Amino acid sequence: MPRICPYQRSPPASERHQTRHSGEKLHASPKLVLTCLVFPFDQLMEAALDQARRARDAGEVPIGAVVALDEAIVGHGFNQPISSGDPTAHAEIVAIRDAAARLGNYRLPGAVMCVTIEPCLMCVGALVHARIATLVFGAAEPKTGAVVSTVRGLDLAGHNHRVEVVAGVRETECRELMQAFFLSRR
Ligand code: ZN
Repeated sequence: MPRICPYQRSPPASERHQTRHSGEKLHASPKLVLTCLVFPFDQLMEAALDQARRARDAGEVPIGAVVALDEAIVGHGFNQPISSGDPTAHAEIVAIRDAAARLGNYRLPGAVMCVTIEPCLMCVGALVHARIATLVFGAAEPKTGAVVSTVRGLDLAGHNHRVEVVAGVRETECRELMQAFFLSRR
């Protein structure tokens, strides 16, 4: 029996290119339904949360990401700009580099990026360059998030690629990891 995706529902056409913080997908496509059936997003987020805990344990802001293609996770990354001495070493960038190296391809068509926290503008750009098909994120980031919070970066004119967005997957766990980290550093 096929698994039912909890994030899937049929939206009216007028709701295309909209996201909410509810964990529900508003602009469904057959491709996304298929992705969802094959690899439930909460399972992907568990792997991303594992990466976020690795960042926390290294003293970095706890954000983690994985890239999945078909039924497999092909890239892992955790936030590590301080320990790697690289300001671009956000979880998403590290995971994209890992996936691209593993697949031997500088583009990742059809891939799902799952990250615990809403991506920043730099990472939004990387998603477009990598041709990521679907972005799944956990909690919004009001100060630096560039998908729904400060700017709708994926909808900016000039992009030659569109990324589907699913927001709010395991949102509470993703946010609590961040809150606990910053509380512990006060
Ligand atoms: Zn980023």
